[in-house]
Amino acid sequence: MGVGPTRDVETEFHMKCRHCGADLNLQFVDLGSAPPSNAYLTSSTLHASEAWLPLRVLACTHCWLVQTEDYAGAEQIFTDDYAYFSSYSKTWLDHAETYVSTMVDRLHLGPQSRVIELAANDGYLLQFVAARGIPCLGIEPTASTADSARGKGLEIIQEFFGVDLAGALARQGRKANLLVANNVLAHVPYINDFLSGIPMVLCDGGVATFEFPYLLNLVKYNQFDTIYHEHFSYLSLTTIRRIFEYNSLAVFDVEELPTHGGSLRVFASKIEESPPLSNSVQDILNRERSAGLNKPEFYAGFQWRVEKAKDEFLRFLLQAKESGKQVAGYGAAAKGNTLLNYAGVRRDLISYVADRNPAKQGKYLPGSRIPIVSEERIRHERPEYVVILPWNISAEVTHDLDYIRNWDGKFVTAIPEMRIH
Ligand SMILES: [Zn+2]
Repeated sequence: MGVGPTRDVETEFHMKCRHCGADLNLQFVDLGSAPPSNAYLTSSTLHASEAWLPLRVLACTHCWLVQTEDYAGAEQIFTDDYAYFSSYSKTWLDHAETYVSTMVDRLHLGPQSRVIELAANDGYLLQFVAARGIPCLGIEPTASTADSARGKGLEIIQEFFGVDLAGALARQGRKANLLVANNVLAHVPYINDFLSGIPMVLCDGGVATFEFPYLLNLVKYNQFDTIYHEHFSYLSLTTIRRIFEYNSLAVFDVEELPTHGGSLRVFASKIEESPPLSNSVQDILNRERSAGLNKPEFYAGFQWRVEKAKDEFLRFLLQAKESGKQVAGYGAAAKGNTLLNYAGVRRDLISYVADRNPAKQGKYLPGSRIPIVSEERIRHERPEYVVILPWNISAEVTHDLDYIRNWDGKFVTAIPEMRIH
């Protein structure tokens, strides 16, 4: 019944590649339509309509940049209601602290250095830089998170980063020994404008690092729920090198990270400095070549695997409902919204989603309109199943919620495939 690849697929997308401008004519996956995944509802907006935008991802057969089809502008998506505060995940804070410590040693950073972070969020990372007495500056376009970072005593410029802001910083002589752009590149709509600003704010010998979920893992582990409107690009090292060179940046090292189900951390310098390539760059490029990442066949068949995972998840929920068992969710993260809206899940199948972030409690998930509650509700109602929506922090959640074993509760993850544990 493998009908996915043979089904009619529209081949006129009327969109050009965000990097190279080529016409896009290869579909990677179509997830139907969904509201912006961070557009949480309140008890008053619950009575209004929601904007549902098509959610389809295309691949450029010229530069192989995989990208979300253009429907909504960044302005419409990143409103001040954007409620993602990085500091609410302990795993994430630990990751940031380890990163800072490693980079301080590697680049010999001290009071004479400067660290600039793009998308500084609530200061989850720069707080560790400031604590070491190293001057730092954050760029963060979202008011609520920028305010929270300022509350930690950090200097934040509340703007989108690009050539204009980079030029202003360079004129003020505010250049970075370390420029941190972790988990922002995939969220940038104008990737050339963003990247071409970076060499302008790097000191001589300065290093920029980028972390992003890795396309090869997305396909291998069926991580289709990491696709959402705010996430414009899905990146491989092959494509990154090409886009960086175009924007006067040279990749010289790469590391694989477990974050977000498998990310890459790429190290880059100004192109004229271009240090020798590490072996890991060549290894990963070779791996991508053998996976066939530069061939259309690599992208074919993904739709079918995505539909299969969605169907299995729905089958579990329907069976649980029929046998009168309660299913709760944990973690009101963006990726959960992609899964729930694509599968058409509503409150009759998952009663509520618990989340540790008090800013989200009392709100409702976009699209599915499932209420977000505090973890107390799980302790009180003792559901038979807890679906962990952010599967990337599954180990942390099963540890913290181990008490559900007291009533024989079980954890459920839907990706890469259904697992009850
Ligand atoms: Zn392209």
